[in-house]
Amino acid sequence: MVLHAHHDVVLLLGAPGAGKGTQAGYIARALGVPEVSSGNLLREHRKRGTELGRLAEGYMDRGDLVPDELVVDMIAARLDGADAANGVLLDGFPRTVAQANALDRRLGANGGAVRAAVYLDVPMRALVERLSGRWICQSCHASFHEIFSPPTAPGACDECQGTLYQRPDDTRDVVETRIAVYMRDTLPVIEHYRHLGVLQRVDGNRGMDTVRGDLCRAVGLSVPMLTAA
Ligand code: AMP
Repeated sequence: MVLHAHHDVVLLLGAPGAGKGTQAGYIARALGVPEVSSGNLLREHRKRGTELGRLAEGYMDRGDLVPDELVVDMIAARLDGADAANGVLLDGFPRTVAQANALDRRLGANGGAVRAAVYLDVPMRALVERLSGRWICQSCHASFHEIFSPPTAPGACDECQGTLYQRPDDTRDVVETRIAVYMRDTLPVIEHYRHLGVLQRVDGNRGMDTVRGDLCRAVGLSVPMLTAA
């Protein structure tokens, strides 16, 4: 289980439904680095029918985590991409302390580090409600909500006109498993980065623009420049 990238990274941490996917693309563009979402990468593997996709599907459909070795190797390959030369924004990875240790070890061995781990904090009771009304763009992964942030035209993405779909693991049963898995396996990752002194907590239970402004501050971007972008 080895990561091969040697660049600085920013992490976006938080429970399923905390709004990571909604914010990640914007923050990554503002930082000038690619957004690397482990969930999106796994869904692409499934769509392409790769061996990894086949190995991952049972875990994903149940709401369990895909084994560390598989995910770490997948992220390592992605971080080796030419477009990751200046670092990446990681969304949804690491999700276990073992993944965090693998990432830290590899970055540290090459003079890089997790420069900021931003924790998007949303109360548990809000998560199920957010996930059950969620619609996602098949093309650009932009996220909408049928009540809180509906698309202008039903079924079509405001950003790229792509088709919107509901994730099969956003059903109540699977969501409850995903949240339980998050509390058991991923909350310790937040503590891990708090100990390392790089954790920044952002209250994610507010309007999208307010949260975005705080995320910008947390990663050292000036808010006026970003709201103008
Ligand atoms: P997400 O889109 O981040 O909610 O991820 C969807 C699913 O992909 C999760 O419920 C897991 O089954 C799997 N997954 C995504 N990222 C990871 C990770 N870092 N470690 C293990 N499994 C993951």
